Amino acid sequence: MSGKLAVVGGGGGFIGGHLVAKLLSEGFRVRCVDIKSQDQWYQVHADAENVVGDLKDKQTCLEACDGVDEVYQLAADMGGMGFIENNKALCMLSVLTTTHMLMAAKEKGVDKFFYSSSACVYNADKQTDAAVTALVEADAYPAMPEDGYGWEKLFSERMCRHFREDFGLHTRIARFHNVYGPEGTWEGGREKAPAAICRKVIQAKLTGDHNIEIWGDGEQTRSFMYIDDCLNGINKITHSDILEPLNLGSSELVSINQLVDIVEGFADIKLNRNYKLDAPKGVRGRNSDNTLIQQYLGWEPSITLLDGMRKTYDWILGEYQAKYGNKPAVVSA
Ligand code: NAD
Repeated sequence: MSGKLAVVGGGGGFIGGHLVAKLLSEGFRVRCVDIKSQDQWYQVHADAENVVGDLKDKQTCLEACDGVDEVYQLAADMGGMGFIENNKALCMLSVLTTTHMLMAAKEKGVDKFFYSSSACVYNADKQTDAAVTALVEADAYPAMPEDGYGWEKLFSERMCRHFREDFGLHTRIARFHNVYGPEGTWEGGREKAPAAICRKVIQAKLTGDHNIEIWGDGEQTRSFMYIDDCLNGINKITHSDILEPLNLGSSELVSINQLVDIVEGFADIKLNRNYKLDAPKGVRGRNSDNTLIQQYLGWEPSITLLDGMRKTYDWILGEYQAKYGNKPAVVSA
């Protein structure tokens, strides 16, 4: 890959920060663009060209794509359920980002364009039971995605498809299922369940207040993919001949209560669970069917939840102690 230039839109974010590191390690030159000021990026890689800019603006996208071989379009205004259920308009505005990145990539003659879609595109009617049937790619239609965020992702997927069909742009799409790992959000309102549970268990352990608040009844189910699997999948899908969106997720199904069990095990603690039934909780059950990715790529995410969560827990513990010490702290639920 020596000499090739890649741009990572949203490179100051969780997955983007890891992706920049991986591309650099593979010999790419990397341009990293994010709307946040650099002191808020999860990782800043000195070897990359780091740009603060709003990719909703077409001129910024044209500059971002100038001379670029590969585009990784990850920029999106997003967060966990608490954020996306309460910020639907903000989530939908990310459509401008993908629109202008596609237009810029076409105008600048970019070779490859990767788009990060989401399992939130799937029809809600297929996700009403905690004992799920894993979602296959065809389950996105007829369309009834997650309101706001999911509609934006489905529309942007569709745009990628038509830029490929009408203009010959090499667009590739992965539907991520709950990605987690170190160097991501663990407090403040945008964090997702794995990080939020780690933080709450750590807080309970260090403060001696052995209560934990859980959103919903804890029996809702999900699968969670460790960041290293996500990065491998992005690479394989971007450079594949697979034209349709592919699931990129773990198929290891777990309930939120089981996830809490795992994290309590790391902390060697048992907590009183208080269930907040009116909290945002998303669909009842969701898992990734990996038949297609196995068929096309002979590969699927395989890092176990236990291994991935251990690394994530250790990292959040370090961050928590660095910020709060071992004293009681008031951080968001
Ligand atoms: P993140 O919020 O950590 O990263 C997204 C980054 O995009 C942020 O740093 C944000 O500042 C940046 N951004 C937002 N609007 C921008 C704009 N207009 N211009 C430039 N930068 C902008 O999220 P993440 O978890 O790293 O997710 C990356 C991508 O993967 C997103 O598109 C997200 O929708 C998708 N995704 C993530 C998950 C997951 O579990 N993390 C699941 C499904 C899909």
